[in-house]
Amino acid sequence: MSAGSGEGFGAGDASAPGNVARVDETPADEAPADEVRGEATHANGARGGEADANGARGGEADANGARGGEADGSGAGGGGARGSAAPADGTGGDEARGSGTRGDGTRVVHAGVPAAVAGEPFLPSPVFGAPYHLDPVAGPQAGVNGYGRTDNPTYRSLEQAIGELEGGECVVFASGMAAISAVLLSTLRAGDTVVLPSDGYFLTRAFATEHLPARGVEVRTMPTPGPYPALDDVRLLLLETPSNPGLDVCDIADLAARTRAGGGLVAVDNTTPTPLGQRPLDLGADFSVASATKALTGHSDMLLGYVCARDPELIAAIRTWRGRTGGIPGAFEAWLAHRSLGTLDLRLARQTANAAAVAELLAGHPAVASVRWPGRAGDPAYAAATRQMRRIPGVVTFVLADKAAVDRFLTTSDLVFAATSFGGLHSSADRRAQWGDDAPEGLVRLSCGVEDTEDLIADVRRALDAAIA
Ligand SMILES: *Cc1c(COP(=O)(O)O)cnc(C)c1O
Repeated sequence: MSAGSGEGFGAGDASAPGNVARVDETPADEAPADEVRGEATHANGARGGEADANGARGGEADANGARGGEADGSGAGGGGARGSAAPADGTGGDEARGSGTRGDGTRVVHAGVPAAVAGEPFLPSPVFGAPYHLDPVAGPQAGVNGYGRTDNPTYRSLEQAIGELEGGECVVFASGMAAISAVLLSTLRAGDTVVLPSDGYFLTRAFATEHLPARGVEVRTMPTPGPYPALDDVRLLLLETPSNPGLDVCDIADLAARTRAGGGLVAVDNTTPTPLGQRPLDLGADFSVASATKALTGHSDMLLGYVCARDPELIAAIRTWRGRTGGIPGAFEAWLAHRSLGTLDLRLARQTANAAAVAELLAGHPAVASVRWPGRAGDPAYAAATRQMRRIPGVVTFVLADKAAVDRFLTTSDLVFAATSFGGLHSSADRRAQWGDDAPEGLVRLSCGVEDTEDLIADVRRALDAAIA
């Protein structure tokens, strides 16, 4: 056990485990967000039949249908002002002007924040609107908000921010599950096959096995580390890497290439790493989908999800899905998420430093049977994780003797809250078997918060000592 190991891994120490070197952005491959949105708009608009059908029914649906969908709102109109990094002139904004080489801290602070206007707040306040005023004569118009299910400047602003960080266009949802189910249900048809992680987030698997076979979709599961069979008959491969809670890692670029060779699509659940930790779209995935409830927003006070993609048709289908099914976030949640995003770099740096120190402590403590953290040399996921990830998340998984040992650990610790979820400011931990995970009785997922490393290490050491019967 190296007791003082925390000090060596301070925030901002680029040589620390988990602080993988900065990866250059790739603005060259990326269509400016507004350009992508414009295409999505046309795609929707071209479906004239839908607009007609909605128009015939009257009411607020008109506005959505006739305008070809919500995509308009973020284009040339007022919403465009939010997109300081993707202005209406199509230059691509800050990214194209070279901010692609800026650091993560700068990027999260400025993501989706509009150009400075004297007298305005830095981040626009939330806009609460169900119907918006309609031009009584001209009726619905492109770029003018019509109805809150499809038009809200506050969540458009958040989408601009997350889209910049993921390197694609973003559609936000009310929760991670709303986002994941949107990807599954908008892409899969009868006769298709989907492959999901057998060791990933259990509700994704539960949703798929409960709802997809009845729709004629074959569901296969694979452990995250593989080995993967042929993937050429797969319509959608959903990966979760690092997997939750086992923290295994797979090679996104390799599996994406193999799936796309057969004409399939690849989605990556990017919840645990966040877009600062991993950029699935750069690695060849079609979708990056995530729960923003966890580290992305990081304050344990809200639920939110999102889907990002580069292909205009794929993201238009997701946006249309959301408009039809209605799983939108509230304006206040969207604003709170955007506000929280500005500290993501700082929070992750401390969480990773804390996890590095905690993993060392766990590895040397007699109460601990095994420990997994992909940033620790010698971990089975270390090589793959350091190759494809930009940072290693602050979640550590370890095994104590049994339930009683975990009970003693959790009741002794002052700083580690017993709670499910992860990625928040407060360190927290839970025994996974209590949720029905296929895990040993004593397996604990510990999410390192942003407490001082020395305090957290002292507290966790005391709790581990108490865990020994
Ligand atoms: C929490 C979580 C989800 C679900 O997100 P919610 O916001 O709770 O709906 C999906 N995937 C992973 C990996 C998660 O940790």
